Parts: sequence; C-alpha cells; structure tokens
Amino acid sequence: MMAATIAIKNGHIFDPLNEINGDVMDIFIKDGKVVRELSSSEMKDAKVVDATHMTVMPGGVDSHSHVAGAKVNAGRLMRPEDHYKWIRKKTPLTHSGSGYTVPSVYLGGYEYSAMGYTTVFEAAIPPMEARHTHEEMRSTPMLDMGGYLVLGNNWFLMRYLRDGDIERAAAYVAWMMKTHKTYGIKCVNPCGVENWGWGKNVSSIDEANIHFEITPRDMIHGLCEINELLSMPMSMHLHANNLGHPGCWETTRESIEIPENIKARTDIDVEWAETKVDPQRKQSVYLTHAQFNSFGGTSWGDFESGTKKIIDYVNKSDHVVMDSGCVPFGEATVMTGDGPAIHDLHVLTGNKWSNTDVELECGAGVLPFTYLKKNPVHSVQWAMGLEVLLGVTDVWKSIMTTDSPNGGPFVTYPKIIAWLMSRQAREDTFNECHKWASDRSDLRAVDREMSLYDIAVLTRATPSRAIGMAHRKGSLGVGADGDVAIYDIDPTRLEVNESEKIIRTFQNAEYTIKDGEIVSRRGEIMAIPEKRTYYADVKVKGDGEKEMLADVNKWFKYYTIGFANYPTPEKYLSNPTPIKVNGGR
Ligand SMILES: [Zn+2]
Repeated sequence: MMAATIAIKNGHIFDPLNEINGDVMDIFIKDGKVVRELSSSEMKDAKVVDATHMTVMPGGVDSHSHVAGAKVNAGRLMRPEDHYKWIRKKTPLTHSGSGYTVPSVYLGGYEYSAMGYTTVFEAAIPPMEARHTHEEMRSTPMLDMGGYLVLGNNWFLMRYLRDGDIERAAAYVAWMMKTHKTYGIKCVNPCGVENWGWGKNVSSIDEANIHFEITPRDMIHGLCEINELLSMPMSMHLHANNLGHPGCWETTRESIEIPENIKARTDIDVEWAETKVDPQRKQSVYLTHAQFNSFGGTSWGDFESGTKKIIDYVNKSDHVVMDSGCVPFGEATVMTGDGPAIHDLHVLTGNKWSNTDVELECGAGVLPFTYLKKNPVHSVQWAMGLEVLLGVTDVWKSIMTTDSPNGGPFVTYPKIIAWLMSRQAREDTFNECHKWASDRSDLRAVDREMSLYDIAVLTRATPSRAIGMAHRKGSLGVGADGDVAIYDIDPTRLEVNESEKIIRTFQNAEYTIKDGEIVSRRGEIMAIPEKRTYYADVKVKGDGEKEMLADVNKWFKYYTIGFANYPTPEKYLSNPTPIKVNGGR
C-alpha cells in the first residue's frame, strides 16, 4: 500500500517532544513521514483534513499492554462471558471481533486505532511462546508493535549472573533478542517465579532462589547492567517482587534503588526525527504498573496507599520512569508472568485461575477479576493509580496505563484522562466509592488538573522516549512517522468538568492517521494500514556468542523442544523492522 500525502490544516497541535502547546499549525505528511511543507503540486494531490477548532496529537503510544500471546489467549478461554460485552460487526474492510477485557486480536487493533493509538508494545513475551505471540501480533491490525522478553527467572541467566559472568550473560541476552525477535528486557518477580515451581516465592530482594542461589537484587542489578552494556533502546522493564501484597512498596523502593548508579546508554542505528526536547531515554530502569507495586499497610485490614514513598523517590531521582497501572473500576482480567501473585489472589478471592510454568524460563497466571467501587481495597487502588500520575511532578517520568487488562482494559483510558483533567470528576467518584479511597490515600487533597499538553506527554512523548522509539513515534517533528490523532476538542473552549464529553471524545478520535493515511474516523475503521514489528538486533563485540551457545546447547536437553525449533523466524512477523543496536564496550 502506498503511503499517502496529507495536509492537516489549522488544528491546535499538542506535540511535547517539539514543545508545541496548542499552537494553531498545519501538519504535512508525505510518503508516510512528517515533512516541513508540501510543494504546490504535491498540495494538489494531497488529501486535506480540516482540523479547525480541534486537538491534534501524535498517534498514541502504549508502552505496556497485554495484547498477544499464550496468557492472553488463556484469558480469552477463561472468559467466555467477555465475548458478548464488546462487539464489532464485520464490514467489507474488517473482521468481526468480540471481547471486552481480552478482545480478539482484530478487535484489539480496531479499538486502539479508534482511540488514536498507532503503536502498542506487548509487555511480556516468554521466549518459548515467542512464535505464538508473533502470530497474534501479526494478526493484530492497525498497530506498529514490539514486545519485551521475559528474562528474570531464566535458568541460563541465573547461572551466568550467579557466577559473575556478565559478558556471557550479555551475549545470551543479545542472542535471545535476535532469536525471538523481541525488543527489550522484561523482569518479572525475579527469582520468585522460579521458586514458585517448587511451591515457594521470595519475600525480599535478598532472599536467594532455591536452586540457583542468586538473589533478586543480583538479578535486577545484572539485567540493568546488561541492558546498558548492550546499549538497548529502552531501559530494563521491571515488575518488582512481592507485587500485590500489602507493604510491597518497600520491596519496590529497594528494587528501584538498585540501578541508581547505572547510567542509561543507548546506541541504535536509526534516522532521528527533528525534536526540540532530547528524544533519548534518561532512565536505567522502567518500573511498570507502579500502583500494583506500591501497596501500603501490613495486612488487608490496615491496607493503604504506599505510593507516596515511591513517588517521593522518583521525584528526586533521574534514573526511574514508570507507568501507572491505573484501576478504572469494572471488569478486568488479571494476567502476569508472576504466577505466585495470581495464586495468592485466587486464595483471596476464590476466583478461577490458571497457571503455567514455562520450562527453563518463566511462568504465568491468569484470573478474571472485577474492581468494585464499594470494595475498600479496590477503591484505594483506584486512588493510587491516579496518585502515581498526579504525584510525579515531572510528567516526563510517568506514563498512563492500566496494565491492560490487569487494572482494566485499555478501552477505559479515556476515563483516566477525564479523572486526570478534572478534580471535580475525581470528587464525583470519591462520592460513589468506599470511604477508604479518601481515608487511606492522599488523592482527595490533590488539586492538580492536567492539561491536554500533559496528557500528550503521558500518552505519547514519555512512552515513546522511554522505549527508545522517539526517533519516529510520539512526535510530529520532521522525519517522524506520519501517525496523528485528531480529537474533536476545541482547547480554547475546553470544559474540563464535562467528563462524559471528554471520555466520548477520546474514545473515538475524529481521525486516526497512520503513515499519512486516514485509518479510522469517529470509531469507524477506514483503512487497514501496513504494520511493522520492531525488534532489537543487537551486535556484540568479540566471540563470546560461540562459547555461550555451546553452553546453551548443552543445557537444551532440559527443554521439551529441539534447539532448531526454538527461534522465531522473521516470517512470523509482519514487516519485520530490526533496530540495529551496537552493543558491547
Ligand atoms: Zn503488565
């Protein structure tokens, strides 16, 4: 499909990477990329979109969402009732699709696009499940994608790092990224998930894994060090130990302190779009779903928000970026690589659950869940997710997510935007909530109301920078991908307390444009664009890879699959787009 030429006229532009805050400007796109201007002959052939009195942002970027792969599919199986709650009918252009918390791959792509998103990264790919994950990502329309490889309980890495062999560990990670066509390093409950194979967990970052005798502290430090040794595009993506337990903020705080002295270092071969704000990531750790990692209290009886301790630390340091993991109330499906955390939630709720052990690598658990306003703990969680976003003073350190579908499905993002923009909207929800929401969090005292510019930072600029995609995503600078979202909001007449209207507007963008082509309009899919799958093609210096592979081969006998069937060939990817990474010192 030929990328289109398009002129977007007279919109109010919100493009934080270029410090543009609502100015009325035109945006031009040619051959799929933002250009400074179009010649008069190009203008004649261009599609013209009139964005007068409208809000124009770069296409949305979701840096943490569960949309493809084995555990998502398990979620679909476990939630048959999910399939009549949100439906799209087939059109001449589209597939039919269904599912609210765990939509079909087709529906997921269409709904993201309807909201103005063009880029979504899958948050957890177990190496052995990479083929399946890529098959689902390939079938997800409308979106450019990539995914993070789950490595925090990997037998090879636990051995190499225990032995202090950082070079071999780095060679392994580099090889794994290429082999499974993945983009970044994910670490979930390091050493605890492997202990779960024996019915145990770890309760602190200094408790060693039973068999490999390595601690979570060493694993987190090791992976952060490898990440920078390899000059990866994004920082190490961390789901800390003890998640979902009262008092877990303490473990989280200790965990994000570990890489304090590790310097962010990215070296990728790409064309950079023009930006005013430095597009390079600054952080050496990306803490995900901070809300789930910040529980306070010592039991469910004295449960309270513990976000303040995390927010205070993030406010005074430069090496942490985090996403919120907001809880917008209603149905969710909890799914994570943290099997023991899901088991504990099953014991607590009695909800059905599933668990998987992924051989030498990791695990996962899935559990259908509903967050209720009348439930004391859930109401505090709602407040905590918003506290994370409103409490971090520098919006360039935080990202708006629900950890979809863990806190709630991504289609609820517009509700979160409404709460962030209006204190009155939050007050209305407080009045419907259990009183713990105000008694056990600080949210009610927060009077910050976010602007459209702030929202553009939280949903475009910071996520794209945090995952090292700001060379082409989350920006309308010259050379960026021609991905644009146009919302029917006149910023000069914005009524922040009209929450219903704000929600409706962000639910269905007036136009979503991808690579210069109008792909959806007011929720209706207009075109199926080409999509790309990004992965890190990491080059390492020296011949460490050969020795490392000999060892991997020796240990492969513990796998149920043969070595030759392990890699994911490029044909499993839609439009494979390797990011050349110059690793090694
Ligand atoms: Zn997640």
